[in-house]
This record gives sequence, C-alpha cells and structure tokens, in this order.
Amino acid sequence: MHNDEHYMRLALDVAKAGVGQTSPNPAVGAVVVNGGTVVGLGAHLKAGEPHAEVYAIRMAGEKARGATVYVTLEPCSHYGKTPPCADLLIQAGVRRVVVATTDPNPLVAGKGIAKLRQAGIDVDVGVLKDEADELNRMFFHYIAAKTPFVTLKFACSLDGKIATATGESKWITSSAAREDAHRLRAQHDAILVGVNTVLTDNPKLTVRFGEKRKNPLRIILDTKLRTPLDAHVVADKEAETWIITGGVSREQAAAYERLGVRVFSMPTAQIDVRDVLRLLGEQGVMSLFVEGGSRVHDSFLRAGAVNEVIAYIAPKLIGGRGAPTPVGGLGFARLAEAVELDIRRIETIGPDIKIVAAPKRK
Ligand code: NDP
Ligand code: ZN
Repeated sequence: MHNDEHYMRLALDVAKAGVGQTSPNPAVGAVVVNGGTVVGLGAHLKAGEPHAEVYAIRMAGEKARGATVYVTLEPCSHYGKTPPCADLLIQAGVRRVVVATTDPNPLVAGKGIAKLRQAGIDVDVGVLKDEADELNRMFFHYIAAKTPFVTLKFACSLDGKIATATGESKWITSSAAREDAHRLRAQHDAILVGVNTVLTDNPKLTVRFGEKRKNPLRIILDTKLRTPLDAHVVADKEAETWIITGGVSREQAAAYERLGVRVFSMPTAQIDVRDVLRLLGEQGVMSLFVEGGSRVHDSFLRAGAVNEVIAYIAPKLIGGRGAPTPVGGLGFARLAEAVELDIRRIETIGPDIKIVAAPKRK
C-alpha cells in the first residue's frame, strides 16, 4: 500500500504537466512499474492527443507485460478521438491497475474498471483519491453540474480595499502576485467581469507573462451594452469576447458583431448569474475566472455560484470609508447568511499573501 501511494504520487505529479491545457478533457498521469522499476510514464497534454496510458505503455514496451499501472483517473472504455485505454492495457498484458479516482463521464463511469476486471486484471481503486479529485476539480464539477467551475479572484490591501476612495487601484499588489494571477487566467477557459470594470479600468483580460499562448475567452456582463466600441476587450482582437446583455436591439448588437464580438441576450432584463452559467455550460465553457468588480462578485456569491476564492492581499493599509471592497452590492444582511469558506492554502508571493479558499459544503 505504501508503494502504491508512492507511485500514485508520481503519476499525479506527471498529470500536473497537463493542468490548464487539456480542456475539455481532464489532466491525467500514468506510471508503469515492473519489478520495482519505473518502466513508463505518460501524461495527457491536450484534447485530441493520446491519453496518458498510451504514452506510458508505449514507453514501457515489452516491459508492460506483467506490470502494475498507476493511473490518476479510471482508464477510458469508449471510442473517443482515440481507442479505449482499457483495451490497450489488456492487450499490453498488464497484471494490475491502480486507479486514483473513477471517471464521472457517463461514457466511462465504472465501465473502464469493469472491462479490466473482466479481462482478469487486478484493479484497486481509491489510492490518493482526494488529491486526484482536487487535480481535476473543474472537470468533475463541469461533468456533474453542466455549468462552469467558478473561481472568484480579487486583490486587496490588508484592510480589505480594492481601490482608494478616489478610485485608484493600479497596482495594489506586487508584479509577482499579478504574474501568478495571469498564470491562473491561463488555466481557465474564460474570464468574466462586469461592465463597470471595463468602463473604469479598460482591462485587456489577456495572459501577459511567459511565452505567448492562446488567451481565454473574455466575457462581459453588460445589461444595456455600455461597453465602449474602442475598449480593449472589443477592439484589440487578442482574444474572443462575448457580451451578455439583458436584451438589446439587433442594430445595437450589430456594431459589436462587426468587430467579431458575440452578443447574447438573456431571457430577463436583470441578468441572472444562474442563466449565465447555464448558457456558458451549453457553450462548452468548463471553467470561469471571475475578476470583478465588486457588484459582480456579490451576484455570484448570492447565486451560490462560487467554487473557489483566490485573494491576493498586499501588506498595505489604504483606509477610507468610501474605498471599495472585494464584495459590494447589498452583501448579506445577517452573519448567518455569510458565505463561509475553508482555507485550502496560504502562500506568500513576493511581499503579498495569497489565500486559496472554497465555500464550505452545506
Ligand atoms: P462591476 O465591474 O462589478 O460591474 C457591475 C455592473 O455590471 C453592474 O452595474 C451592471 O451594470 C453590470 N451587471 C450586469 N449583470 C450583472 C449582475 N448579474 N450582477 C452584477 N452586475 C451586473 O462594477 P463595480 O463598480 O462593482 O466594480 C468596479 C470597480 O472594481 C472598478 O473600480 C475596478 O477598478 C474595481 N476592480 C478591482 C479589482 C481588484 O481585484 N482589485 C478587480 C476588478 C475590478 P448594467 O446594469 O449596466 O449592466
Ligand atoms: Zn483513455
């Protein structure tokens, strides 16, 4: 058992290579061990490319016969873009398969494990399950809820201000913290902000660190289409942009559509976050990075739509009764209604603190 955890941890580390770049697929790692020696490693790196098991078995070659395979997610049993990995493991003659967690995808969901067992392979399930579930939390949420996994992110001072009373907000946190936030942007399918943030900050909402990569989709909540036609998100063509409105005329939308922006009209005049999430789920958006402003944060929290909260806190005191805070709007009137969080991690990044937290499961 001790050995199983050791090799599964290695498989999880290998899987991490794919995190943030496999959507709509999960990140998966596989390790092949024969006679106490690691003979193959593999990770799924991109949708459409081979699964982790394929690389690992290929590397192991003849040594896969009689080996134990550690895989962070149940091997697939269906013909997708690639043939089923369960069949591959059977053909390779492996003796035992250790699986961290089952695949909730209804096309697999236990069928991969059943197939292996039918072929006489020993299968153990659940080794480092919590770590494996955490690694693919966005994928698992999307499969179960059919709406994107929502990460709410903000940067504030130690006294909880996101800007000064006069509205100055660039920059509260260090460049190291901002680079970390850009890395997180890159791990989501889409970034969402409210129209006031576009009007006050004119953000680009692109990933600007390291090598150039595909930028996530940009989404603006904008009931009456107040986003300026010359805003970066409309004009710069650096990424796709969708504007979600409360229903606007075709002429109004046309000016944006000519610039390549998609304009959606929601069924209600007041945009309901739950409708937005349903729409994005239907459009295949698996993960959403919500970056403000404070009214939008309030709406997402009230809708119970937040899966993870990321706060960057700078060691600064800004003060001012009128200075805005990360969650505005009406807030919750009673403490009993407040969104309670479990802190998952606390890190320091340069001079700042990063807190990763998740709403307590009720
Ligand atoms: P928001 O950016 O949250 O935009 C709110 C507006 O979005 C609403 O007034 C509304 O305008 C529109 N909207 C449409 N649907 C919804 C909905 N369901 N829920 C909420 N809003 C909706 O505005 P804020 O004024 O709260 O925040 C902007 C400020 O926050 C800026 O000054 C910016 O600098 C700061 N900020 C700070 C960040 C930080 O981390 N430090 C990050 C991001 C912003 P309409 O009715 O016209 O549709
Ligand atoms: Zn597979």
